[in-house]
Amino acid sequence: MHFGIDLGTTHSLIAVFRDGKPDLIPNALGSFMTPSVVALRDGHLVVGEAAREIALSDPGQAAACFKRSMGTAKAYQLGETRYDSVELSALVLRRLKQDAEAHLGAEVREVVISVPAYFNELQRRAVRDAGQIAGLEVLRLINEPTAAALAYGLHETPDDEDEDSTLALIFDLGGGTFDVSIVEIFEGVIEVKASAGDAFLGGEDFTEALSRIIALESGVSAEDMALRPGLLRLAEQAKRQLSTKAEVQIAAQLGAHEIDLSLTRSRFEEVTARLVQRMALPLDRALSDAGLQPEDIHRLVLVGGASRMPAARAFAAKRLRQLPVIGVNPDHVVALGTAVQAALVARDAALDDVVMTDVSAFTLGVETINLVNGTPRKGFYLPLIERNTVIPASREKHLQAVELGQTKIVIKIYQGEAPRVESNLKLGEMEIVLPHNTEAQEIISLRFTYDISGLLEVDAKVLSSGTETQILIQDLAGKMSDAECETARQRMQSMKISPRQTAENIYISTRLDAAWAMARAMQREQLTEVILEWEGALERQDPEEIRVMRQNLHWLMDRLEDTHVT
Ligand code: ADP
Ligand code: MG
Repeated sequence: MHFGIDLGTTHSLIAVFRDGKPDLIPNALGSFMTPSVVALRDGHLVVGEAAREIALSDPGQAAACFKRSMGTAKAYQLGETRYDSVELSALVLRRLKQDAEAHLGAEVREVVISVPAYFNELQRRAVRDAGQIAGLEVLRLINEPTAAALAYGLHETPDDEDEDSTLALIFDLGGGTFDVSIVEIFEGVIEVKASAGDAFLGGEDFTEALSRIIALESGVSAEDMALRPGLLRLAEQAKRQLSTKAEVQIAAQLGAHEIDLSLTRSRFEEVTARLVQRMALPLDRALSDAGLQPEDIHRLVLVGGASRMPAARAFAAKRLRQLPVIGVNPDHVVALGTAVQAALVARDAALDDVVMTDVSAFTLGVETINLVNGTPRKGFYLPLIERNTVIPASREKHLQAVELGQTKIVIKIYQGEAPRVESNLKLGEMEIVLPHNTEAQEIISLRFTYDISGLLEVDAKVLSSGTETQILIQDLAGKMSDAECETARQRMQSMKISPRQTAENIYISTRLDAAWAMARAMQREQLTEVILEWEGALERQDPEEIRVMRQNLHWLMDRLEDTHVT
């Protein structure tokens, strides 16, 4: 069995490759999608559905969308403690791992995790670190669009007899981000040709817009913090329904206000037209970066839950003058692709012929000294491996000592696209000892070898003496040492995390609280009874009774939510 994880901004999924195909693994609540949210409840951290409920009703007690700050020092306060995005991601990963292990009855250790194509080295390392803290061994990171192409099996189906390669455009509208990538598939090799996006455009913006309409039409204030959770809940439900229905009825009690209205899809599309228009820019940019026209694209692949909205699909189809390929659920496609990739890494026999490569998303190089008006100036950037080079790649350049008799050169290694190193990201440095030579400037050959697992090997050789020096960049700049990882793991051990077994109970409790908040007076009385009964069952601690009651309550909550938006 080979495992892959889609660590999403709003949802995360885990999939397994077995018997020749990828499958999703349900979490403790039976759902394939675990919200990437961590929250505090009764002094314990909760992860997933329950945390998302808390995020809606009590945002101060929850951390969400932390994927956006991977690779930065941003901290999230939960109760007395601050957590960074790596720790929060580790909690989500660990929840996925534990749920999958409980479901399969087998250990989950080696995984492939997907990351956005535009993630830089620091962000990628942050994801690797999170995996390590969660007790996973991250075999490889895969770009999300590459995973989507794999899930669709695009590497297997030569598109057109006349074409030697297939070009696919991956249109990924998630909860908080919009990513467009163009991948080229050639003889089983998938290459990201271009990627563009909007880091602040996603399904949540549509929910927000809809919540304002609901507020407006009901004569309540959308800014009222007390009403916001309820408004967002109704809007989210209405939005999802409007993906398949032309009209919905909304009926609910929000605080002192009675909400009763009907909403049409065309009204929704009218108020969100500007959001849809914002997708044009990244689409055009990706095409122009790849030097392509819409008609050059052979396959349009829709990814991300929000790509279900008819307006988003229609926009993509119109802009690319073709219908999207269908067949794989847009919520699942990336996760399924990560499992395929895991099988590829392990050379599963079912995937014998597929080769995988990737491109380096960023330029890698070193600092050099240039002459400015005849005077040597530091700080210039000399690229060795250019952005979008197919990896694995190995490139060599020669550097000359600036002065006669110089006895060492310090090689500083950077990633980035700026001509001066100060604006790039420093990955590490190495010192090269030179023979004392007063006759001529010493020359060294410098070789960068970058492989698909993200490891950069830097080899320097002094040409006159043959002395060689090497460093591996994975161990520098940001990657945690074993000791740091151990500390992080211990910190995680000491966090009070509610046990997996109780996740479902907590989720029921949060759902009941939320339902109560939104119910009308008469329903409230009934709900109070239900809540008391539930609390009673929890106190009696009879697992079978609790299990049965949970099932009934889920059923009841589903019906109740359905009565709000129909
Ligand atoms: P991410 O990869 O960023 O975690 P997802 O792919 O899970 O995001 O997409 C989440 C978004 O998809 C949310 O904004 C959610 O409201 C939206 N979404 C999910 N299902 C539907 C649907 N049926 N119609 C419209 N939007 C949907
Ligand atoms: Mg996603």
